[in-house]
Amino acid sequence: MNNHHYTGLINKYRNRLPVDDKTRIISLNEGNTPLIQLKNLPNKLGWEHEIFCKFEGLNPTGSFKDRGMTMAVTKAVESGAQAIICASTGNTSAAAAAYAARAGIKSFVLIPEGKIALGKLSQAMMHGATVIQIKGNFDDGMRLVQELSSTMPLNLVNSINPYRLQGQKTIAFEVIEALGDAPDYHVMPVGNAGNISAHWIGYSESAGQQCGSCNLCDRQCAFKDDVISTKRPTLVGYQASGAAPFLRNEMVDSPETIATAIRIGHPVSWDLAWAAQKESTGWFEECTDEEILQAQKVLAESEGIFCEPASAITIAGLLKDVERGRYQKNSTIVCTLTGHGLKDPDTAIAQSEAPVVVRQSVMR
Ligand SMILES: *Cc1c(COP(=O)(O)O)cnc(C)c1O
Repeated sequence: MNNHHYTGLINKYRNRLPVDDKTRIISLNEGNTPLIQLKNLPNKLGWEHEIFCKFEGLNPTGSFKDRGMTMAVTKAVESGAQAIICASTGNTSAAAAAYAARAGIKSFVLIPEGKIALGKLSQAMMHGATVIQIKGNFDDGMRLVQELSSTMPLNLVNSINPYRLQGQKTIAFEVIEALGDAPDYHVMPVGNAGNISAHWIGYSESAGQQCGSCNLCDRQCAFKDDVISTKRPTLVGYQASGAAPFLRNEMVDSPETIATAIRIGHPVSWDLAWAAQKESTGWFEECTDEEILQAQKVLAESEGIFCEPASAITIAGLLKDVERGRYQKNSTIVCTLTGHGLKDPDTAIAQSEAPVVVRQSVMR
């Protein structure tokens, strides 16, 4: 095989990930997603920033969850696990099901009944996961899988599993490689808060600096060898108004938002995410469901990029915070577009104009 063939993020970054030569890698060639510069939107609004979207919707199962799942399932298999389990708002279950299929092991996924986008449910079902719908939200499911995995031979692959964050940190490496250095700002949606924590781990390692997770993480970072950037970005996390524990500074018991991927009120990575915000001198802000849907439509119509509602909150947040002057002039800003718009066609169709119908028969 020619060695330029891309074979996934573990092979690419194996010296910065907890694997060795004997590890059997479970991969679907995830990662290596495009970094797309926005043109039309900043032009129209007269913004002086350079804005890039890291389109994670182009991962094998359509979301960034694949980055963490390749690592988590690889380590589960290495430890001899026969089955994995997770709670999910949708994308984690899709990724868990696909990577378990690839590994030849079983997967069990708990999802909140009626509150998961249909594309995601179809993935978990097609890949042969045992799908368990619960009468409760993601946070209830999370409590349940923690209990189950502590008493049964089930490997927990939610982002409380540190290998998930190790896989997800590679997004920072790719952004730095594409831009030549870290951006000034990196903007993302925040739900369970694993991803913002993983971004910070990746950027910190890349700049040869300690991060807030160092005292919580058992990995000895090989700092000096990994330095590829001169700085770390300011991280900005956007939350849906109905599910915004970081804005309220306390857990939210009944989270609600149309952006089901971030409908989470008790984020597991609470401490890590606060550390990332403080160390990066970043901030959290909230957007309403209406702002989220508008931003999703604006991005799709003006730039040709179709992301799911949770991902579009990054654009909604920029529309608000750039106008307010919260970003320093002439900045380089990267948005993580966490998942593909096709995951949730119902929400997209509901907010679009119905197709034109030709009444006259066009058949001969
Ligand atoms: C999981 C997910 C998020 C939230 O990421 P966290 O790590 O839970 O904060 C955001 N958007 C999409 C599309 C997701 O699947």
